[in-house]
Amino acid sequence: MIYQGKKRYPLTEVVLHTSATTSDWWKGKDVNEMQDEIRRWHVEDRGWRDIGYARVFSPDGRMALGRSIYSIGAHVKGRNRGTIGICMIPIKTITKMGIVTDYYTDDQIYAVKHYIKELSELTEIKKGSGHNDYANKLCPDFKVRSEDWL
Ligand SMILES: [Zn+2]
Repeated sequence: MIYQGKKRYPLTEVVLHTSATTSDWWKGKDVNEMQDEIRRWHVEDRGWRDIGYARVFSPDGRMALGRSIYSIGAHVKGRNRGTIGICMIPIKTITKMGIVTDYYTDDQIYAVKHYIKELSELTEIKKGSGHNDYANKLCPDFKVRSEDWL
């Protein structure tokens, strides 16, 4: 089991997020560059002590590290204890209705599922959810169902 913070909250849930980045923000960046830039937004712009998410996945399936999975994240108000925030960097697509939505690639989804599987060997993940389950937000732009991700 993985426990977070001094009070040792058991890590049992994955919360998926999207980032407010442009479609090609990630292109040409290695994972360290992505990590550095997200860290600047969260630490310098928001005043947090580290990246709010624990892991960030690019559309081509690479993983950047955020804060430690052993510390409490800063990704979903009121639900940071015992959860891990995973951010998927989207490719923006425009629907027939002219609405911009976040699109995730198969490589990226595979990488996230693979990571959750590895994580499940270290701690008992009981639930997968989306930021939109806990806040009045679209993030990650689709309904996250546990059975699709665990
Ligand atoms: Zn979110």
